[in-house]
Amino acid sequence: MTTPIFRFAPSPNGYLHLGHALSALLNFDMAQQSGGRFLLRIDDIDQTRCRPAYEAAIYEDLAWLGLEWEEPVWRQSTHLDGYLAALERLDAMGFIYPSFESRAEIARLVAERERAGPWPRDPDGVPLYPGNAKGMPVTEQRRRRDAGDAFALRLDMAAAMALASRRKEPLTWIETGVGPNRETGVILADPAAWGDVILARKDVPASYHLSVVVDDAHQGVTRVVRGQDLFHATGLHRLLQRLLGLPQPVYHHHRLIRDADGRKLSKSSQATGLRELRAAGATPADIRRTVGLAPEGQ
Ligand code: GLU
Repeated sequence: MTTPIFRFAPSPNGYLHLGHALSALLNFDMAQQSGGRFLLRIDDIDQTRCRPAYEAAIYEDLAWLGLEWEEPVWRQSTHLDGYLAALERLDAMGFIYPSFESRAEIARLVAERERAGPWPRDPDGVPLYPGNAKGMPVTEQRRRRDAGDAFALRLDMAAAMALASRRKEPLTWIETGVGPNRETGVILADPAAWGDVILARKDVPASYHLSVVVDDAHQGVTRVVRGQDLFHATGLHRLLQRLLGLPQPVYHHHRLIRDADGRKLSKSSQATGLRELRAAGATPADIRRTVGLAPEGQ
């Protein structure tokens, strides 16, 4: 049997909270229980939001929790060539196009479309791309890029789905955890729900969706354990894996830790930050208990 490979992949754009602790500890426990490996990945591709101090805090907080990971740590910012190669591949297959609308223009287009009725939203509640950039002539695309205009590189979902569904076996994944509606077992992927998603921007070499599938494949990750908020994104990740010919890990989405008002934790909520809890005298065993995990070694 091959050794299972797990990873915890935080973004250094804030301090870790109890939700991260649950994810990291679950990955670590599952790796130990299955004789697997535990990797740490720093998802720092969006340099506009990441800070070295947050990265240092990640190492400190995870070590305090009692986790050990393999070195060297995989830092996305040092693997940009892999994302570029994946983008070029998708582009060569005709699945990528640039769009040039600003966020404000997109909001205006959505409002315009909504005058005719509800405009579809992705599983995160964000309106699908409403623009017409797919039809822009290549000469015009080139002119705008050469002029230095900001752009996003989008996946042509219709074309990608047409290719993906030419394969006989449906696009699915194996879920050993549970989705937000108790989904488990073999799950049918629904990538089209995301519309023409952004895979890179002028200033960000790869979106989360692209980098996560490329990195999981490069690191040989076989078990992805992460929060339920990423359950529906897995459908999109499966599509990208199929288009790029990458292997599929087994997925395990876990419940989310919520704050006293039932909201998802945010990196700025002090009450649940690991540093704040530590400063207030909490021990790693207290953290395990608070996130509902059995004491270490059980
Ligand atoms: N950096 C991502 C996050 O913190 C990783 C998600 C994943 O595990 O795929 O949400």
